[in-house]
Amino acid sequence: MLKAGAGIAVTSALAGRGIEVRAADAAAPAPAAGTATTAPAPVWKNWSGIQGCTPTALETPGNEAELATVLRKAGAAGARCVGAGHSFTALVPTDATLISLDRMAGIVSTDTQAQMATLHAGTRLAQLSRQLDAQGFGLRNLPDIDAQSFAGATATHGTGKDLPALHADVIGLRLMTPNGEVLECSTDRNPELLAAARVSLGSLGVITQATVRVLPAFNLHRRVFLKPLQAMLDDAPELAERHRNFEFYCLPHTGYAAGIVNDLYTGTDTVQPPSADEDMLRDLRRLRDWLGWFPSLRRWVAGKLIDGAQTEEAKNRSWKLLSTQRPTKFNETDCHVPRADGIACVREVIAALERRNDVFFPLEFRFIKGDDAWLSPFHQRDSCSIAVHAAQGEPYDYLLSEIGPIYRKYQGGPHWGKLHDLKAPQLAALYPRWKDFLALRAQLDPDGRMLNPYLRQLFGITA
Ligand SMILES: Cc1cc2nc3c(=O)[nH]c(=O)nc-3n(C[C@H](O)[C@H](O)[C@H](O)COP(=O)(O)OP(=O)(O)OC[C@H]3O[C@@H](n4cnc5c(N)ncnc54)[C@H](O)[C@@H]3O)c2cc1C
Repeated sequence: MLKAGAGIAVTSALAGRGIEVRAADAAAPAPAAGTATTAPAPVWKNWSGIQGCTPTALETPGNEAELATVLRKAGAAGARCVGAGHSFTALVPTDATLISLDRMAGIVSTDTQAQMATLHAGTRLAQLSRQLDAQGFGLRNLPDIDAQSFAGATATHGTGKDLPALHADVIGLRLMTPNGEVLECSTDRNPELLAAARVSLGSLGVITQATVRVLPAFNLHRRVFLKPLQAMLDDAPELAERHRNFEFYCLPHTGYAAGIVNDLYTGTDTVQPPSADEDMLRDLRRLRDWLGWFPSLRRWVAGKLIDGAQTEEAKNRSWKLLSTQRPTKFNETDCHVPRADGIACVREVIAALERRNDVFFPLEFRFIKGDDAWLSPFHQRDSCSIAVHAAQGEPYDYLLSEIGPIYRKYQGGPHWGKLHDLKAPQLAALYPRWKDFLALRAQLDPDGRMLNPYLRQLFGITA
């Protein structure tokens, strides 16, 4: 009874985070009296359901002392951390110990003078935005959604030609190595460790706290508009120059693209955003289902149905407009190419997508400023991000086989959390500090306790 009770408690605490505790098989014979029963195995799955594992233990430490005990207990079998499980690659799966920092969440302190905040690493971006706002601060930028945990949001980015990925605003970290030792690093103290740990895929140890640069809370004015695809491709660089945040979505097989711009707004009235994304997705899917085999007719009908003059507006707090909800699940690849090649590359990607009649999901094109983290896909390079999605339950192999080669042609650096098939030799050629990172990893975790099979392959570690 007690064991079942504990299982239910873990299940409800982690519900919606991709972790469940598998109930005992009802058909299995009851254990004989006096026989020891084992606790139900935790089962973990990522957001889209394509990654999963059955770890031996799921640990949710509440502080650094408990975390150190968990890591020591995990021993040579090792451990992996999970944030919100929103990565599509196999970064998380382990058959050893899985650690969630969901109980190590919230803001530790803020400093108005220095414009910075220190937070527990398990804090979800949504919680962070709300708690910062309550204290008069905001993050500089945010990704599409804000479900991710701060430490898990590995190289996660939004859009804006002058706006880097989230980790670029990290100016200090506390990192617990596999043997339970805490290392501190900041821009002044041990800056090399900071540059490596900012994007470290959970391979250097467990990040327990981060200190980040923040801004005074600010409002944005968002405008959404449609344009013929060719016009959007031609105008994109200039739109990115003119607006704080600019991105566009290509609506495949329609001849149209939807642009989104955000600019600082000092007024006080708020205008709630209409949430039409799901309607648009449903219509694009229907068009594919009905007319997928007749691409010319599909485009003609789309041209008749889409009102190119339609616009939307919203005014609100930055975090309320920058991130949104994504109820329709998908699998995704996302690559970051040099800024100057962005439009040429996306033209080829769109052409490849439109050679497939089954494609309906919009492609997302964004701008990201470079930074200096060693494994940042934006390392010393302003970039454009080209993200291609396939609806959950539909084939997604072509994201690697047909879109991957186009990314490679343009020296694209993959998003670590999104589907790609690059291996150590190709990655070493893309990341100038690759060898330095691997040397530091070997120093901090010589026995590879924080690695899983996927990371071993990614890093080219065979021993
Ligand atoms: C619907 C959706 C929308 C998305 N939108 C965007 C977007 O707009 N922009 C973008 O760039 N990406 C986006 N992503 C990708 C997502 O932001 C990244 O994959 C991110 O890394 C997921 O964060 P997470 O908290 O779920 O981490 P997880 O996927 O759970 O883990 C990611 C990595 O972080 C490690 N980790 C977790 N916690 C710790 C810790 N405390 N210490 C050390 N390592 C740790 C894990 O071991 C793993 O290696 C999106 C994903 C989805 C599903």
